[in-house]
Amino acid sequence: MESIGCFEECLVETIAVEIGRRQMVQAGVLGLAAFASGCASVVTPAKARVVVVGGGWGGLGAVRVLAAAGTVNVTLVEPNEAFMSCPLSAHYIAGHQPASDFQRSYTRIDQLGVRRLRERVTAIDREKREVVTGTQRLRYDYLILSPGIEYIEDSIQGYADARAQLPVGFRAFEQLAVRQQVDRFLDAGGSFVIGIPKPPYRCPPAPYERAFLIAEQMKRRGTKGKIVLIDANPAPMPAPIAKPILDAMKALYSNQIEYLTDTAISAVDMGRKTLSTALGEVPFTQANLILPMRAPALIRQAGLGERWAAVRLPSFQSQADERIYVIGDAQGTPLPKSGHVAFGAGQQVAGDVLDLVAGKPLPKPGGEVELPLGICWANVTHAEAININVRTTISAAAAPQLRFTVDPAHNARSGAAAMSWGQGMWKAMLG
Ligand SMILES: Cc1cc2nc3c(=O)[nH]c(=O)nc-3n(C[C@H](O)[C@H](O)[C@H](O)COP(=O)(O)OP(=O)(O)OC[C@H]3O[C@@H](n4cnc5c(N)ncnc54)[C@H](O)[C@@H]3O)c2cc1C
Repeated sequence: MESIGCFEECLVETIAVEIGRRQMVQAGVLGLAAFASGCASVVTPAKARVVVVGGGWGGLGAVRVLAAAGTVNVTLVEPNEAFMSCPLSAHYIAGHQPASDFQRSYTRIDQLGVRRLRERVTAIDREKREVVTGTQRLRYDYLILSPGIEYIEDSIQGYADARAQLPVGFRAFEQLAVRQQVDRFLDAGGSFVIGIPKPPYRCPPAPYERAFLIAEQMKRRGTKGKIVLIDANPAPMPAPIAKPILDAMKALYSNQIEYLTDTAISAVDMGRKTLSTALGEVPFTQANLILPMRAPALIRQAGLGERWAAVRLPSFQSQADERIYVIGDAQGTPLPKSGHVAFGAGQQVAGDVLDLVAGKPLPKPGGEVELPLGICWANVTHAEAININVRTTISAAAAPQLRFTVDPAHNARSGAAAMSWGQGMWKAMLG
């Protein structure tokens, strides 16, 4: 996996190429303006308005390219005051690193001239091309949506009433509450149940990684008890990751982790602290139920899709509205639900929007087209990880083809590469 070693340079280079291309577009526009300024009166057309919803991995990929071009007015709508990474945050959840290692401020985005609105979008008025928040209606010429996921709470009876005691921790900042559960478990022992749904959900290796890093701390601290992984799947999904994950579980944590397969959780009883499954009732001291996921309600309410937003590939343009792009985990293509894919899709879509605004026709895709690359990591200890790369291509009228490259076994090289990948990505997003 030589490509991983040069990850940061490659990323910076990709961004530089992207920005360079955009600056040329801008230079072209400025050149025209200079030429026109010889005339007595020049009417400067208003810049096109691009609204980006969601300041996570996908939204920031788009915002950085749009802001670098300087040819459009960019508004980022994001309710959180700062960014927190889900990737790598298992190191925080299990108590190996502080939360601050995985958080970044939006200061750089503000410095780039992006208007940042710290609110939640509550509706999209497609007819008027307006995004609605609690206090404003924002007009857009192009809308880029990257709002991530919501949990399907009614998939487990009793979950909605117990939400506050059962944080999932698969969205930014929810990790803080899961960390408290982990601390209690590591201190007092007992049974820590992690429930794993059927895919698609974001970052399929993540529940196993979470279990491994908590189990590592159990060993270190001599915690009495066990982690019970209740998996709705017959094995870790997708298939190419199963062997290295199961090998690591057996080799490192056979005394800490009990793995139940093909077992869905149907109900939770917080009074009795039990979970209902086809195998019978499973008692727990702490439970971390990773719920099935879908695109946030906003997508359905705007008529952009059902469980996931329906988009065209390779463009990520909404099937319902050509002025709207949906990227990241909210879109429903077979692409992996990965931050790396989301960021790459954000860059790609922003480039297309800039071309459209500049009046350039988009190239008609012919032959095989490369879609944004997926890079995921499953740490099995604080120092060792399994690297999972997913290359996706698409040809006209054919379904996307996914090709996996997976480390055959966990190793320290991927452990180090994971952390430098994170640093490189956060720098590209917010540095
Ligand atoms: C534990 C874990 C480990 C992971 N590891 C990896 C990994 O190794 N590699 C990898 O590539 N990916 C990994 N992922 C997946 C990665 O986190 C997601 O794929 C990525 O975050 C998707 O980006 P996104 O932009 O779609 O969503 P997000 O990054 O979640 O961003 C969505 C943003 O939208 C905002 N938002 C939501 N609704 C609204 C609204 N109505 N109005 C305004 N803003 C809104 C949210 O506040 C949020 O900031 C991991 C995920 C988890 C949970």
